Amino acid sequence: MAMRKDAYPANWEEISRRIRYERAGGKCEWCGAPNDTYIRRNRVNPALWELASPEDEPDAQWYRPIKVMLTVHHIGVDKPDGTPGDRHDKLDVRDENLAALCQRCHLFADLDIHIENARQTRRAKREQSAQESGQMRLF
Ligand SMILES: [Zn+2]
Repeated sequence: MAMRKDAYPANWEEISRRIRYERAGGKCEWCGAPNDTYIRRNRVNPALWELASPEDEPDAQWYRPIKVMLTVHHIGVDKPDGTPGDRHDKLDVRDENLAALCQRCHLFADLDIHIENARQTRRAKREQSAQESGQMRLF
């Protein structure tokens, strides 16, 4: 997802760094994958990983190695007053609303959003091409 910098607090870099390195100890808080390190995931159960070298070839058991890059996910936990949380609210930087995640866990955390964005993109393209072919018919 494109990151809209203006929607984040001014000190986001600092918050993100504290969550990733001080709180999470440089590891994905969901699967434990270490930041800035090559790992490869198991094909049968991709939640399983092992340390790898970038030269490792994928095989029947393991996927191609990837370098882990932690980013900070906004979980969208409810507010203390009971107001529902919102994953799109990047200004909600309460510790309990943030999780340091590897690429894979972050993708899964926002999978429904990615699916919805892809659906809207496809629909927009369909409507645009329908509109264009409609315009073509006028000439
Ligand atoms: Zn992870």
